[in-house]
Amino acid sequence: MFELLDLHFLGEEQLFCTYLLDLDDGLALVDPGPQTTLAALESGLAELDVTVGELRHLLITHIHFDHAGACGALVAANPRLRVHVSGLGAAHLANPERLERSARRIYGDMFDVLWGKVQPVPAENIDVVGERVLGLDCFAAPGHAVHHVCYMNEEGTLFAGDTVGVRWPPSQYVLPATPPPDVDLEAWHASLDEIERRVPDALALPHFGLVAEPEEHLSIFRRRLMLWAEIVRRGASVREFVEEVSRDLDEETAKFSELTDLLRHSYLGLKRYWSSVAEKD
Ligand SMILES: [Zn+2]
Repeated sequence: MFELLDLHFLGEEQLFCTYLLDLDDGLALVDPGPQTTLAALESGLAELDVTVGELRHLLITHIHFDHAGACGALVAANPRLRVHVSGLGAAHLANPERLERSARRIYGDMFDVLWGKVQPVPAENIDVVGERVLGLDCFAAPGHAVHHVCYMNEEGTLFAGDTVGVRWPPSQYVLPATPPPDVDLEAWHASLDEIERRVPDALALPHFGLVAEPEEHLSIFRRRLMLWAEIVRRGASVREFVEEVSRDLDEETAKFSELTDLLRHSYLGLKRYWSSVAEKD
């Protein structure tokens, strides 16, 4: 059993969300979101008669600020919280300075507006995930980020993080999010294979909501990821890339892509990926 809570990121509906899970070991949030949406998180919880003090766990798919930026503030408010994260992500939660510095280079002045204040999570609150976490299956899903993991509950809902793209309802249009620095297409395809092998019944996306037809979503996502990567590989400029991939976006998807600067970041991430592949050769 779980509930979707809209985080009303930038005052918008159906842009970012988190999931509240009622587990045997207490209440858990999957990816609590950025620090800037804490008030919305608290009021979403209040609607369900839950306070931050009653939460027991934060399950983190990956430590990008739009997913895990609120962890430090939540643990400060409720020191009993356990934060579950991959081994590769754990150090960044405890010492977010380097991650923040590199994100500030990408976001510039927008960093504070989008992500707010980043507080470290005390090391003693962090649990590195294994194959089972609080009754959920957990597995590595690198590609979007090297430290990304996914969680799947017994009912077959996959808490997918950013591994299967983003989609802003009511639109069904699936977009890859491929920001720098650690896009890895080979690893990403292996992660998608692993997700398909597990045959989820539904995909729970942080951006945004539940996908009831995982098979179709996954195959469209995989094709679009390859297409975007190919446009960058053959040397498109950022302007050409944005122009080409924007062509078939519906109005709502175009608006949210622009608001989150997703296309430009995706270009930069893919560009960096292809340069690293060229360096290896
Ligand atoms: Zn991410």
